[in-house]
Amino acid sequence: MLRLRADWLLPVSAGPIADGAILIDDHGRIVAVGRADIVPTPPDAASEELGATVLLPGLVNSHSHLELTGFAGAVEDDDFWEWITHVIAIKAGRSEEAFFDAACDGIRGMWSAGVTTVCDTGSTGAVVEALDHLGACGIAHHEVFGAAPEQCAPAMRRYVKDLDRLARHATGRTRLGVSPHAPYTVSGALYQASCELARAHGVPIAVHVAEPPDERRLLEEFTGIFADSWRRQGIARPTEDPVSPMGFMERHGVLSSRTLCIHAIDVTEVDLELMVRHGVAVAHCPRSNQRHHGTVAPVRRYQERGLRLGLGSDSEVSVAPPDLLAEAREARMIAGWTAQETVRALTLGGAEAIGLAAELGSLEMGKWADMVALPLGEMTTPEEAVLMASRTDVLATWLGGRKVFGTKRG
Ligand SMILES: [Zn+2]
Repeated sequence: MLRLRADWLLPVSAGPIADGAILIDDHGRIVAVGRADIVPTPPDAASEELGATVLLPGLVNSHSHLELTGFAGAVEDDDFWEWITHVIAIKAGRSEEAFFDAACDGIRGMWSAGVTTVCDTGSTGAVVEALDHLGACGIAHHEVFGAAPEQCAPAMRRYVKDLDRLARHATGRTRLGVSPHAPYTVSGALYQASCELARAHGVPIAVHVAEPPDERRLLEEFTGIFADSWRRQGIARPTEDPVSPMGFMERHGVLSSRTLCIHAIDVTEVDLELMVRHGVAVAHCPRSNQRHHGTVAPVRRYQERGLRLGLGSDSEVSVAPPDLLAEAREARMIAGWTAQETVRALTLGGAEAIGLAAELGSLEMGKWADMVALPLGEMTTPEEAVLMASRTDVLATWLGGRKVFGTKRG
């Protein structure tokens, strides 16, 4: 067993605890959490005294692309389509082994920055393999592409094979999910087929949706950068009647309570009704939204309507280095959150968004002992201390009671 004591404990599901302690069993689950004078000290438990720190649940990164680790600064285009084209080009030059190594580096980088759970999307399969290899916690959404309807059948045949191959890595705390990439790379037929496959296997869905303004132009009027590219490739208009990106998702069976909408910037009131009706969740990536599109997502409206919402770093090609604490500060400014609301979005909110809140996201009896220790500093409240910290201030990170980052061995 392991017993940790800290000047402040932030369970998130309950108020802050001064002079708190937490007791963890040999399986990595929390068995007691509360004031240090109440939490038992079994004689066989290893004890660690954390002193002037805030101990809180490990951060949940609801959107990453860890196979792109190492590509920070490699693509600087302002134009979104140029940027994507260049990302595809640099990926083509990286070997399978290099993707695996990059994914492992990315996971370790997350741990060192206080993140214990990632919800990742990628096309190589390297991340699910790396999560499994490192005994890490996360969902790896495997991407499928094919803008032309006639590409659907061959793309699905390859995709089913890929998922069968990757499924052996979905053990322990590593899970696999499905991700039809985005409306400018996926046909309606492919959305339908891949999401039916996800439902048949009971796995979650993640989609990049309502992100660049030209996504709406593609679907509503067949104009803009994506429509121009489709025309050059001889791909037909996706729909004769104008439909919004979110409406297109609904039409092809994408939206459900197990669907994570990544970015979701360009959303009208009608779109929002669809999201509410289907109970989707949102991965909010404020710094990526700012960098690529110079805009913000309607976070307050999402929360007023009761949508689950987590924070995401997106890839380090978009924003480097990935820093969920910096995302939280940005999100707080955009939404006008209190410190408590912001810390919740970093932890339990993210866990709710990706469907893992029964297992993690708060320090509660029975949940995994995923934790991060941050310095208390001069701040007046433990929540403010968390939000003042940056990724390099993390003192230690535990995953299921196992210390995965930090100087002292727990
Ligand atoms: Zn992304």
